[in-house]
Amino acid sequence: MSGPAKNPLKITDLTFRDGHQSLFATRMRTEDIEAIAETAGKVGYHAMEVWGGATFDTMHRFLGEDPWDRPKRLRQYVPKEVKFQMLLRGQNLVGYRNYADDMANAFVDQACEAGVDIYRIFDALNDERNFQTVAKRVLENGKHFQAALSYTVTGRRMGGDIFNLKYWTAKAKTFASMGAHSICIKDMAGLLSPDDAALLIPAIKKATKLPVELHCHTTSGMAEYTFLKAIDAGVDIIDTCSAPFAGRSSHPALEPIVVMLQGTDRDTGFDLEVLAEITEYLETIAPKYRQLLDTSRLAVADIGVLMHQTPGGMLSNLVNQLREAGAMDRLNDVFKELPKVREDLGFPPLVTPSSQIVGVQAVMNVLMGKVGGSVKERYKMVSGQVKDYCYGLYGTPPRPMNPEVQKLALKGYPRGETPITCRPADVLEPELEKARAEIGDLAKTDADLILYNMFPTTGKKFLSVKYGKEPAPAEWAPRTMEQAAAESELCRKALAGELIDRPVKEAPAKGPGLRTFNVFVDGEYFEVDVESVGGAPVVTAVAAPAVAAAPQAAPVAAPAPAAPAPAAPQAATAPAPAPVAAPKAAAAAGKGTIQAPMPGMVVDYLVKPGDTVQAGDVVVILEAMKMENSLEAPVDGVVGPLPYSAGDSVAKGDVLLTID
Ligand code: MN
Repeated sequence: MSGPAKNPLKITDLTFRDGHQSLFATRMRTEDIEAIAETAGKVGYHAMEVWGGATFDTMHRFLGEDPWDRPKRLRQYVPKEVKFQMLLRGQNLVGYRNYADDMANAFVDQACEAGVDIYRIFDALNDERNFQTVAKRVLENGKHFQAALSYTVTGRRMGGDIFNLKYWTAKAKTFASMGAHSICIKDMAGLLSPDDAALLIPAIKKATKLPVELHCHTTSGMAEYTFLKAIDAGVDIIDTCSAPFAGRSSHPALEPIVVMLQGTDRDTGFDLEVLAEITEYLETIAPKYRQLLDTSRLAVADIGVLMHQTPGGMLSNLVNQLREAGAMDRLNDVFKELPKVREDLGFPPLVTPSSQIVGVQAVMNVLMGKVGGSVKERYKMVSGQVKDYCYGLYGTPPRPMNPEVQKLALKGYPRGETPITCRPADVLEPELEKARAEIGDLAKTDADLILYNMFPTTGKKFLSVKYGKEPAPAEWAPRTMEQAAAESELCRKALAGELIDRPVKEAPAKGPGLRTFNVFVDGEYFEVDVESVGGAPVVTAVAAPAVAAAPQAAPVAAPAPAAPAPAAPQAATAPAPAPVAAPKAAAAAGKGTIQAPMPGMVVDYLVKPGDTVQAGDVVVILEAMKMENSLEAPVDGVVGPLPYSAGDSVAKGDVLLTID
C-alpha cells in the first residue's frame, strides 16, 4: 500500500454500544468486549463508542454489572490515542426524564472519572437549552463536546417548512457558539438521503468551521449510499460497526468501506487482517447473543421506516408492546396514530425519549381510545411523560403543540396547568441530597448515588445485590457457550425430526359416572369432572353434593381439558354451576377494580388500604413500555388491600387495587 492518504476518513467504531444496542438489545457483557478490546485498540479508530445510550440501564437492570466500571475495564486494553465516546441525552443524561442541574453536573464528573473522552450530546427536541449544563461541564472537565443534531424529516426528504437546510445549519451554528468541538448528524432511522447528505455536510462545515461526523442507521437501507456521497462531500468522521454487528437497524459495516477507499485520498489506512480478527471473534461469541436478533422479518432494509419515519428501536418496542397486550392486529392503527400524535406534540424528532413518548401514547390511544375520534376520545389515558412534555419539561418542540391536547394533558397536573417557557431544568429542584437521604448507606459512592437517583427501583435492587444484601437473581447470570450450544443442538434435532415424541394418551370417552366438582384453591375457582375407573361403585343417586366423593376415588382422575377456565361457564356441562362460583372473576369485573391495562411494573401506590378516594384520584403508578402511567380511581370509595408492592411485575389484566 502507498503512503498515507491526503485526507484519511476517520472512523468511530460503534460495535460495543450502538451496534449491540441496535441488534442485541444492549445485552453485550463487558467480559465479551474485553476479550477483543486489545485488538480493537490496534485498528486505528478515531474513537470507540463504548458507553451511554441504553448501556447504563441494561447493565444494572439485566446484566448485574456496574455500568461505571465498563470504560475503566476497557481502558486497560485500549491505548489512550483511541478516544472513548459516550452518547449523552442532554439534560436526560442516560435516563428518560430531565434531571436537575446538580444531578447533571455530578453525572458528567463521574463519566469523566470513569474514562469517557468524547461526549456526543443530543436533545430529542434539538432544544439547545438542554445542552447548556452538560456541555459546560464537559468543557470544564477539559473533554470533547460533540453536539449532535437529531436528524428528522416530515416527508421523505430534507426540506419543507420545518426541517430544511436553514433549520439544520442554524442549529449547528448555535451549538458551535456554545463551544462544540465537532458536530454530528445523528440519523436514527436512516432517513438522510445521499443527495441531502451532500448538501447538508458542506453547509454545516462552512457555517461552523467544525469537523462533521455522520451517524446513520441502516434501518431503511440507505445508509451505505449516503455514506459514499458524504465521503465525497468531505465528511470528516463516519460511524460504523464490525460486520457481524452491522446492518438492519444497526449501522454500515466498516470492512467494505475500508476496501472501497483503498488507494483513494480518503483511504483509512486500516489493516483488513486486524478487522478480520475482530469479525472472527464476534462470530465465535455470536451464539450467546443470536437469539436476541429480531429475525421476524426477512428484509434487511425496512421500507416501513421510509414510509413511517419510525426508528428501528422504536418500532421493535411498539411491536413488543402490542404483542404483550395481545393486540398485534392493531399495528396498522398505531402507524396511523403515530404521525397524528407527533403532530399534536409539535413534530418532535423521533429519538429517545421523544420516540418512546410519542410511540407509547400512540399505542395507548389505539388500545384505549377511539381511533379517528376527537382529542378527548383518542387521549383516554395520558402517560406521565406526555404530561411532563406538554408542561414543557422536555423543552420546546420545533412547532407549537395542539393546544387542545396540551390542555387535556395538563388538567390537574401537579406542577400547574399553565406550561412553562423557560429552560426546563430551571424549574427542577436539586435532587441529589434528597436521593442521598432516601438511599442512605446503600449508596457508598457518588457513582452509586447517581445510579440510584436515575433508576430508583432497579438501581436500588442492583446496589442491594452489589453490596451483598440480597442474592443476584438467576436471570442475571450470563448465557454460556455451553447453554447456547445445547439449545442449538436441540433445535437441530427438532428440525431433523430426531426428537422422539412421547406417545399421546387419548382421553377416554366420558362415562355415565362422571361427576362435576367445583374446586376452590386460594380463591381461584376450577370446575373439575371426576370419574372413577376400574369398577368402583358409581354413585349417582346422592342428592347432597357435599362430602360424598367416593372414598376410594382414584387419586385425581384426568381432569377434563378445559377445566381451569374460571370465567366462561362451559356450555358442554349440563348442570351449569351456580354463578356464585367465581369470586375472582366477579371482582375483576367490578366497577371499583383497577386492572393493569398492559404488562408492566408497579412503581408505587399513592394510597394505603383504608384510604378514602374519589373517582379520578391517581392511586397507582404503573411503569409500562418504559413510561410511568398514572392510573385513576374509577369510583369513589375505600381502598382495599394492596396485592403488590413497588417493583413487582404485573401482567395485563392483573388486579392492582380494589375500591369498595
Ligand atoms: Mn444511533
